Amino acid sequence: MIKTRFAPSPTGYLHIGGIRTAIFNYAFAKKHNGKFFLRIEDTDIERSTQEAVDKILEGMSWLNLNHDGDIVYQAKNFNRHKEIIAQLLQHGHAYECYSSKEDLEQMRQDCEKKGIKPKYDGTWRPEEGKTLPPVPEGVTPVIRLKNPLDGNVTWEDQVKGQISVCNEELDDLILQRSDGSPTYNLSVVVDDADMGITHVIRGNDHINNTPRQINIYKACGFDIPSFAHLSMIHGEDGQKLSKRHGAASVTEYRELGYLPEAVNNYLARLGWSHGDAEIFSLDELCELFSLKSITSSPSQFDIKKLQWLNNHYLKQKNFEEIEVLLTPQFAKRFSDRKQLLGIFDLYKDRCNSLRDFEVNAEMVLTKPENISHELIEKYISDISINRLQNLRDLFNASDFTSESIETILKAYVKTEQIKFPEVAMPLRVVLLGTDQSPSVGQIIALLGKDDFNNRLSEQI
Ligand code: GLU
Repeated sequence: MIKTRFAPSPTGYLHIGGIRTAIFNYAFAKKHNGKFFLRIEDTDIERSTQEAVDKILEGMSWLNLNHDGDIVYQAKNFNRHKEIIAQLLQHGHAYECYSSKEDLEQMRQDCEKKGIKPKYDGTWRPEEGKTLPPVPEGVTPVIRLKNPLDGNVTWEDQVKGQISVCNEELDDLILQRSDGSPTYNLSVVVDDADMGITHVIRGNDHINNTPRQINIYKACGFDIPSFAHLSMIHGEDGQKLSKRHGAASVTEYRELGYLPEAVNNYLARLGWSHGDAEIFSLDELCELFSLKSITSSPSQFDIKKLQWLNNHYLKQKNFEEIEVLLTPQFAKRFSDRKQLLGIFDLYKDRCNSLRDFEVNAEMVLTKPENISHELIEKYISDISINRLQNLRDLFNASDFTSESIETILKAYVKTEQIKFPEVAMPLRVVLLGTDQSPSVGQIIALLGKDDFNNRLSEQI
C-alpha cells in the first residue's frame, strides 16, 4: 500500500509551496488507494509554535486535504529516535565523537587550505586496527554515522531522474547532539520508516539530505522509500517565492477571498499537468495524478491565473454558498439577501475573489461620497444633468423593473439621437461614483425607487 506524508515544520506560516507538496502527496496516495499522513516536525523547540501548528491544520482542513490516521508529532518520538541511535552504536554503524568546537574549526580551516569541501576528518571514527585518542574527561560526545567511505549513493528520483552522489562527498553526519537530542535527518528517517512511508514527495530544498538519509536507512536496515523532489516555485521575477512577492501563506489567500477549489486547482497545475487541461476538482486530480507528469523545472507563480480560476469557481457557486463565505464585518453591515443576490448575479463575472464581490456590493449598497473631479469633469454637464432629470421622471412613472428601465433607456437614446454611454456613464457616476459597472438598467432596478431617487437628487 502506498503511504505518503506531509511533514511541515511548525516554525512560521504555511507556505503556498508547502501546500503544493501536501496536495501532491495527497493526490498520489488517493490515486493509489493509499494513505496520506500528516507529521508535524516540531523538534526545533525554540522555533516551533502552537500557533504555527494551528495554521497548518486550519490551512489543510480549508483545502480539504484530510489526512489519514492520527497526526504524528515528531518531538513525541524522541525516545524512539534515541533507541535507534543506540542500536546504530551497538552495531558499529555509528560512533561517539569527542572532537571539540576548536578541533572542528581547525578541520574546517585545513580543508579550506586544501581547497576541499569542509569535512569531519574521522579522528574518532573507529576502524580495524586503529587506536582512538584517549577519551577526554567531562566531555559528552556527539554521535556520528559511520558513512561509507567509498562508492556512491544512487536513487531514481521520481521527478529528477537518476541521481548519484559519491560517498566521499558526504560527511560522517551527526545523529545525536552532545545535549542528547537526535538530529533532523535521523528523526525523519526513523519516523518515515516507522510510519511505513513508501514515497517521500517533498521540496527540492531537501535533495541534499536524501543521500545522507539513504545511508541512514541502510545503516538501520530499513526499507528505502522512493523519493520525488519538487522544484521550487518562483515569483514573477524568477526569485524563490516569498513574502516579498505578496501573500505567501495559505490562510492569507483565504482572507483575500480565494476559494479552496481555486487554490487547490491552481497549485496542482503549478508543476504538474495533464495534457492541456486546466480545470480540476480535487477528486479529478486524485484520479489523474501521476508523479511522471511533474515537471523538473521551477514553476512560476502567476496571480492572474489564480484569479482566473477563482473567478471560474466563484461563478459556479450559487448565492447560498457564497453568502456563508462573506466576512462577518460585511455580513453585519449588509444583510438584505435579495439585494445581495441581485448584486452577485450582476457582478459575479467580474469578481476575481470574494473580496472583489464585497467591494462591488459595498459600492452598490452605499451612496457614493466624494465623486472624483476627473469623473465629474468627464461625464457631468448641464446637458447630462438635464437628461438624468428627464430619465428620472420616466423611470418613476414605470414599474421600476430592470426590463422597464432598460426599455426606457433604449427609447430615450433613440429619440435624443445620442449614444448609450452618454446617459449610462453619467448615471453610473452619479449613482455609484464610478464609470464602470455591469448593466446600468439592472443597477437602477437593484437600487430600487427610493434609493435611486435619493442618490440622484443628492448628487444633482
Ligand atoms: N520538515 C521539513 C520541512 O518543513 C520537511 C521534511 C521532509 O519532507 O522530509 O521542510
